[in-house]
Amino acid sequence: MNRSREPYLLTPGPLTTSLATKSAMLRDWGSWDSDFNELTAGVCRRLLEVARAEETHVCVPLQGSGTYAVEAALATLLPWDGKTLVLMNGAYGQRMARILQYLGRDFETLDMGDYLPPPPERVEVILAADPEISHVAAVHCETSSGILNPLEAIAEVTWRQGRRLFVDAMSSFGALPIDARELPFDGLVSSANKCFEGVPGFGFALLRRKALEQCVGNAHSLSLDLYDQWTYLERSGQWRFTPPTHVVAAFASALEQHAAEGGAAGRLARYVHNETVLVAGMRAMGFHTLLADRWLSPIIVTFHAPGHPNFEFGRFYDLIKQHGFIIYPGKLTQVDSFRIGCIGQLFEEQMRGVLAAVRAALDELDIPDGAPRPEDLDKPEF
Ligand SMILES: *Cc1c(COP(=O)(O)O)cnc(C)c1O
Repeated sequence: MNRSREPYLLTPGPLTTSLATKSAMLRDWGSWDSDFNELTAGVCRRLLEVARAEETHVCVPLQGSGTYAVEAALATLLPWDGKTLVLMNGAYGQRMARILQYLGRDFETLDMGDYLPPPPERVEVILAADPEISHVAAVHCETSSGILNPLEAIAEVTWRQGRRLFVDAMSSFGALPIDARELPFDGLVSSANKCFEGVPGFGFALLRRKALEQCVGNAHSLSLDLYDQWTYLERSGQWRFTPPTHVVAAFASALEQHAAEGGAAGRLARYVHNETVLVAGMRAMGFHTLLADRWLSPIIVTFHAPGHPNFEFGRFYDLIKQHGFIIYPGKLTQVDSFRIGCIGQLFEEQMRGVLAAVRAALDELDIPDGAPRPEDLDKPEF
């Protein structure tokens, strides 16, 4: 491994970006200039295309990290007399519930704990029992465990019960298939620095035009009002308030590279290969994934920490970093774990590299293999 290189980020964003994406930031743009307006329009057009949503939805970008876009989209879409069912199985579902608390909007939760998937049948039962629920908020890939939630089935029961769907697709859109013609959502949010492999600085919402047209005056906040952002963009071609110009330029380049790789399908194929190499290599060293195969995502994989008494995450992390790779701590409340991401400018070579670094770190710590404590494996089957 080339130690003079900056480390590879095996994290779910910010992530390792290409030289072309970074180089696109070397030019300054006037935020009122028509060149920059065209850049914005092109980015929004392309994002709608990737989701096959050109006919039904609009794309509204927003300055800030992904959470700003989630909060803005919820604040804009949800009527004050609405009620939202939030499906939670990790930090990002919990965050949506916290946002609704701040926003003072009525909500109910289906909390599945750290990583169990929300069962669509249960969602349907809850909806059928409570006609006041107007919206369902779901996380597609819950990045805290890496679980790929059953979004299509959740969308179907939500639609069947006549409610509106909101999706945090932050860590999935751009790689996992999302087709607005088949997945009936009113709002879907993602950001620049996940599967599209841009640099951090803005998020965006794909909003159903017919729904958004009804949303004037919903938002509690000027800077988070996506209705206002949208109508201003439509009128002027410009963002309200200073846009992250260099980030948008980098993102436009990242989108060209995304298309050249074969769009979402091409990107997914690379990520799946990364995941396959990673999981097989880790299992060969005795590590266990938190999730059963059917729930694993090609975005990020959670592994149980080794049960050996010599294991200490901080030391393990530092040793792996010395080999040129940054991994991610776990986010579970019950068991010790860590995560390794598959997204970003990573290929088989880097996945083999991180496996070699993990092996070297175990050797250094005098830990024979990655086997977890037996009691950590004692968890509900699903
Ligand atoms: C990354 C991510 C977010 C947004 O996080 P920020 O730190 O605000 O960019 C939201 N939801 C999911 C599922 C994510 O992976």
